[in-house]
Amino acid sequence: MNRLYCFECKRKVNYTINEKEMIYIINGVNISFIGKEVTCNYCNGLISLRDITNENIKKGNDKYRDVLGIIKTEEIKEILEVYTITQVEEKIGCKTIIDNYLKGLMPTKECSDNLRKILKEAKGKIFRIGDWNKDWIKKQRLRFSFYKFV
Ligand SMILES: [Zn+2]
Repeated sequence: MNRLYCFECKRKVNYTINEKEMIYIINGVNISFIGKEVTCNYCNGLISLRDITNENIKKGNDKYRDVLGIIKTEEIKEILEVYTITQVEEKIGCKTIIDNYLKGLMPTKECSDNLRKILKEAKGKIFRIGDWNKDWIKKQRLRFSFYKFV
């Protein structure tokens, strides 16, 4: 195991990674989850390790989405199988950047609720059209990166 720099001990030290219940406050909502903490084996002080911090942030964000029912990135991608980004942005009405959502930025609850409605619509369209002509859709999908039935 590589040693890490401890700012308390002012040298590289051996360290321990423990699981710990963490509480984040995201947009005023308390989110608790089991995250990880890195401590110095000599002074027991906390050591910051970027990978662990990122892992904790991701866990916290996922939990927040679950608690509030915020739409997930994968679900936004499903919408984009039916609608273009411009169409989605027009529909949801809130000033937003779908590109950033696809990169993992979390939509507000309001935008997320709107996106969920669109997702429902999109799924309805796929089902209805798929019902009567699946083969035709497959061909269209191959021909266009986005297909639209609006
Ligand atoms: Zn230390």
